[in-house]
This record gives sequence, C-alpha cells and structure tokens, in this order.
Amino acid sequence: MTNLPTVGFIGLGNMGSGMTRNLQKAGFPLVVTDLRPESAAELIAGGALWAESPAQVAALSDLVITMLPTPRHVEAVLHGADGILAGIRDGGTWIDMSTSVPEPAERVRRDFAERGLRILDAPVSGMSIGAATGMLQIFVGGDAADVARLRPVFEAMGDPERILHVGAAGAGYAVKLMINQLWFSHLVATAEVLAIGVKAGVDLGVLRESLVASPANSNFVQNDVLSILDHGDYDEGFAIALACKDLGLSIDLARSVGVPAELSAVVEQIYRRAKAQYGDLAGEMTPVKLYEDVAGVPLRRAAAAAADTATAEPVPA
Ligand code: NAD
Repeated sequence: MTNLPTVGFIGLGNMGSGMTRNLQKAGFPLVVTDLRPESAAELIAGGALWAESPAQVAALSDLVITMLPTPRHVEAVLHGADGILAGIRDGGTWIDMSTSVPEPAERVRRDFAERGLRILDAPVSGMSIGAATGMLQIFVGGDAADVARLRPVFEAMGDPERILHVGAAGAGYAVKLMINQLWFSHLVATAEVLAIGVKAGVDLGVLRESLVASPANSNFVQNDVLSILDHGDYDEGFAIALACKDLGLSIDLARSVGVPAELSAVVEQIYRRAKAQYGDLAGEMTPVKLYEDVAGVPLRRAAAAAADTATAEPVPA
C-alpha cells in the first residue's frame, strides 16, 4: 500500500520507458498504455496496470502524463470515446511532457472550461539516458501551486536541481523548443568547423582541445560531440525525424511571434537533408555525418587522445 497518487502514463517509447521505470522505482502506482503493448511488459512485471485506452488510463489514475512524439499524437489521445477527456475526472490533472505546442491544451481549457482540469506542460531535456537514470531536466509551464503539488512526481524522473518552473501554461513548450534550436545550431556549427579544420590539416583532437580552450568553447564542443568523436555514436535514442519535428515547431513559433529565424531555417534544412539521406530513425546527431561524408573524413579521435581527455560525462541538450 502507498499514499502516493496513481500516475497514468501514455507513451512508453525511448523516453517514456525510462521515465515510468523511475516512477515505479519511487513507489508511484502506475497505469500505462501505448500503441505497442510489448513496451509495457517490464512495468507490468513490476506491478503496473495495463489500460486498453487513454480514457481507461485517465479513469484509473490520479493524474495523467503524456510523452508522445508530436502535437498530432497528443491531440489523438485527448479526444473521442477512448480519449483522456472521456476518462479524466472533473478537476483532474494532465501533464504533457512531450516536446509540443500549447494549442492542444488551449483547446481543452477553452472547450471544457467548466470541468476545471489542471493542465501543465513539462517537456524535458537529457536524452534517453537522462530518462533512464532519472536525471532529466524538466521545464514546467503552469500554475505555481500545481507545480509545487506535483514536484515529487517530477523529482522521480528528473534532477531536482534542474526542475524549473519557467512560467505560465505554454512557457515550458517554448523553453524546450528554444533549447533544442540552440543545441541543434551548436551541432551544425561544430560539425562545420571540425570538418574544415581537419581538411586544413589540423589534428582533430588538437582542434577540439583548442576550441575548448578558446572563447568559442561550448557545452557541445566540450562534452556532447565526444559521443561521435570517441564512439561514432549519433544518439539513435532520439530519432532525427523527431529532431526535424522540433525544428519545424521552433520555426513556426518564430513566425508566430514575428521574429526572423534565418539561422534556424538553415539548420532545419540541414537536418532535413540528413533525415532524407540517412532515414527517419537515424540519430539526432547524424547531420555531423553529412559533413564527414562531404569532407571525406570520419571525425574520430585517436584512441589515445580520447583516453587523455574524455573525462567529462556528456551533458546532453
Ligand atoms: P518514441 O517515438 O520513442 O516514443 C513515443 C511512444 O508513443 C511510442 O512508444 C509510441 O508507440 C507511443 N504512441 C504514439 N501514439 C500513441 C497513441 N495514440 N497512444 C499510445 N501511445 C502512442 O519518442 P521519444 O523519443 O520517447 O520522444 C517522446 C517525446 O519526447 C517527443 O516529443 C520527443 O521530441 C521528446 N524528447 C525526446 C528525447 C529523446 O532523446 N528521445 C529527449 C527529449 C525530448
């Protein structure tokens, strides 16, 4: 028996699988569903209840979390006879942790105002490894009282130091899109300078260390790029199709607020080229490979150089 609220969770993919395991580890009773029933096997073995629909998840839980690919998927689990709205009790709580946009939640607030639902957006950073280790960064938009009430739920999935209440409803989505936009821009810029420098005859390890020692250093150069340089790992835990989705949403946001986004648009096109070339399921860091292929040089540090300096844990976006 537990006094913790029952958490309903919809979307047990690369992120949701780790997040639910950590909720379960923290003692939260779980009710889960996904289009792929096999994704729940381990959770069910650990005591979670399987629900046949989002409506059933909502009916059997004290709060519902969605962790789905795109706004279209979020819309799909909300409405209709099987949707969350058909099962959630009046005054119930829905937290969308997907990288998405405010519109689906805004429509619910507008069309079902009398039901008094508590709705938060709480997208995350930290890659699938952060989801698996319970060290996600979480950016929450919504009422302060709701954020405080739900903090133990967030703390089961994220780094307590980096669970940030970033503003009113919708602010979490905007912060998350800007984080990804900047990180993807860092990635493309870094790939470009590494390929140019190496073709100009500089040793890759020396070039990177010089960048780290310079005013041009960034978290990407210092940490995240090492997954490619030392391991040839382009992070398949985050599909490039979803990265392209994020870049598209980010540019839509820029357009809607009237701010030009020339650089973001170029980065988006480079990502879309990589997706076309290497496939939807290629890792989010695959655009680096475009530069490797064009330059005809794999960006890999020699093993000895890697052993010298690869001390930092990746700090993913
Ligand atoms: P994923 O594609 O691995 O998982 C999505 C899951 O949702 C799948 O298991 C799918 O079967 C399920 N699903 C889709 N439609 C459904 C429906 N109607 N009902 C029930 N289940 C449904 O995606 P992911 O990598 O886990 O990403 C989820 C969200 O988190 C996305 O918005 C992504 O942009 C964001 N995100 C991902 C990462 C990462 O590193 N993977 C990092 C930060 C944020």
